Amino acid sequence: MGKQVVLTGMRTTGALHLGHYVGALKQWLEIQQTGQYECYFLLADIQALTTHADNPSALRQSVKDVTLDWLAVGLDPRLKNVHFVLQSQVPERAELSILLDMIATNAEVLDNPTLKAELQDLQVRKTASSGFMRYPVDQVADIHMVDPMEAGSTLLVPVGADQESHLELARDIARRFNRVYSPTKAVLTPCRTLVGDIGRLVGTDGDAKMSKSKGNTIDLRDDADTVARKIKGMAAGPNRGANEPGKPDENPVFIYLRAFDPDQIGLADLEQQYRERGVPNSALKGRLTTVLNDFLDPSRARRRELAGTDISQILVDGSDAAREACTPVITTVKEAMAVSLPYKF
Ligand code: ATP
Ligand code: MG
Repeated sequence: MGKQVVLTGMRTTGALHLGHYVGALKQWLEIQQTGQYECYFLLADIQALTTHADNPSALRQSVKDVTLDWLAVGLDPRLKNVHFVLQSQVPERAELSILLDMIATNAEVLDNPTLKAELQDLQVRKTASSGFMRYPVDQVADIHMVDPMEAGSTLLVPVGADQESHLELARDIARRFNRVYSPTKAVLTPCRTLVGDIGRLVGTDGDAKMSKSKGNTIDLRDDADTVARKIKGMAAGPNRGANEPGKPDENPVFIYLRAFDPDQIGLADLEQQYRERGVPNSALKGRLTTVLNDFLDPSRARRRELAGTDISQILVDGSDAAREACTPVITTVKEAMAVSLPYKF
């Protein structure tokens, strides 16, 4: 009947924000809740180096921040099917990455729309490390390091919308691998993408994506006053008099309310009112401040209880679990590609 495996992750480049929550963590928590998947949540510290190699102490701090953010929202590595994996601590994964590099084409990596969009930024284009240029393939290795390699299995990858093209590449490479090296019996499991209802959350400045590099985030660890201040300064769509009708779709405050307000029926009424006779932005922002602080309160409480948690041990245990899962994968892949011993003459 096969195995059910989840692999997903985040770069360790700083504290997490509401975009990470709706685009990823929310789905991860639902999956964890089912208890039906072996879950590998990856802290991608090597991938963080593709753009942040100049500040080792910040990288270390980010690993800690991301781990604490995950624990605070309720991911729970005490469950036996949940593993927090530190990417750099799985050497077999790096080996897999080099081998998959040989069957990915340079053209398909460079054609990747997400990579292309990132390279549009002149600064990125000028300074991109050589590692950055191959990160899409490295991510394919992340996914397949825990490949169950068993008929009828599922390899599920819950991510935000910007990752969809990367997962298409992963499926192409897995199928190519199977076709070339094992045409009669599939070895690698083409992964399945899971994108939540909100694949991309807008930033507080109204930009299409909330992103730390754009400074338009509300962070999971922000206190109540910080949240209130950020919402006060938030973009609220085209200029409008307090009682002038508007279009909710154009107002980021509504986008956030749709994502986080538990009273969706009341919200639908408010949207209608906004369309017909207008609602002052200050009222909308007041509602959002309450909604977001209520949403963040349980994480804040859990975070207070986390002081003194042995994060290293959590990461050692999770990384060991990933190494164990990766061992048969790398053995099989090396044998298939003829880079293994013993040689039989
Ligand atoms: P940032 O741009 O803030 O540095 P990132 O995109 O580099 O964040 P990643 O580690 O690449 O962060 O992403 C982790 C996961 O969070 C991915 O699944 C990504 O799609 C998702 N994600 C990140 N930002 C958002 C957002 N604004 N809306 C929805 N999902 C998001
Ligand atoms: Mg990213």
